[in-house]
Amino acid sequence: MENKKEMRTWLDDLNLNHPLVIAGPCSAETEEQVLKIAHELKDTDVSYFRAGIWKPRTRPGMFEGVGALGLKWLQKVKAETGMKICTEVANAAHVKLALEHDVDLLWIGARSTVSPFIMQEIADALEGTDKPVLIKNPVNPDLALWLGGIERIYKAGVKNIGAIHRGFSTYEKTKYRNNPEWQLAIEFQNKYPDIPLINDPSHITGKRDMIFDVSQTALDLNFDGLMIETHYDPENAWSDAAQQVTPSSLIQIMKDLKIRKETDPEAEYNKSLDNLRAQIDVIDNQIIDLLGKRMKAADGIGALKKSKNVAVLQSKRWNEILGKMVIEGESQGLSEEFILKMFKAIHQESINHQEKIING
Ligand code: PEP
Ligand code: MN
Repeated sequence: MENKKEMRTWLDDLNLNHPLVIAGPCSAETEEQVLKIAHELKDTDVSYFRAGIWKPRTRPGMFEGVGALGLKWLQKVKAETGMKICTEVANAAHVKLALEHDVDLLWIGARSTVSPFIMQEIADALEGTDKPVLIKNPVNPDLALWLGGIERIYKAGVKNIGAIHRGFSTYEKTKYRNNPEWQLAIEFQNKYPDIPLINDPSHITGKRDMIFDVSQTALDLNFDGLMIETHYDPENAWSDAAQQVTPSSLIQIMKDLKIRKETDPEAEYNKSLDNLRAQIDVIDNQIIDLLGKRMKAADGIGALKKSKNVAVLQSKRWNEILGKMVIEGESQGLSEEFILKMFKAIHQESINHQEKIING
């Protein structure tokens, strides 16, 4: 797949002077709920109203969406508010129904992008449509699988394409519902700078009070827009209650986000600077995370040494590590002096940890 400017025609044609905003409830619940939220989002920066009609739930027995009936409610949203409408499609039947009901944009969910069979079925059903199609990242952090899914849609003659970054499942519990793995999104942008990339802070965080920060990071990383789940009564939503925000909080979030536009050289400079700083912030967080993990392993070693009554400092092992790291560092353009200083500090912290365990 080539990187083509035509992929972003749908977005450029909107002529927005701010990032794209897609908002609306996780799920369409009732006609009243859908219309009430839509009216509260009317005349804001929201371009597309979202609502899930068919809901992929982790376990059976949970609310699985209202089905095709909800498409009629979305059509009413369009007629009454003028907002464009969008929903998730997960098979050929969904695509057919969505297109018949004149849904303006379709997205493919994270649980579908993982399956090449499903992606091919959806691609065949979409063949030649001029509606924008946004492909969410697969639940697992696999860039090739994400790109492969996009390629299937593109090869079906869909020219208006976009991607949604909604984070990735992890075995280990983190503060996120779905870990952002920002470096993967950065790599995506480097490969396909012309595919619009939308961030979904709702599914990344799983918690409404974290949505602002993730949205700001996304904008600093040059994302083209945001998809934010919005409900007038989030606590009582039938799905994803913890992560939805009210329309008025969404409006406040959009007001508070720092948005840089490429209008003059000064703004261009600041935007590039913010982008690089955001990348550094992401990496710094990863460094801290890794150092924390390293110290946990050191604690484990401390406990073992204590049980065997072995000394903390083992110079032979330490010199081996240093030698290896100096060579690794060189291959990354890091000076020997820096590597030695840094590992000395890390080693000291490890020793402190182990001593605490042994004496404590
Ligand atoms: C959704 O957008 O409501 C949804 C189900 O998202 P995801 O596919 O990212 O889990
Ligand atoms: Mn949801």
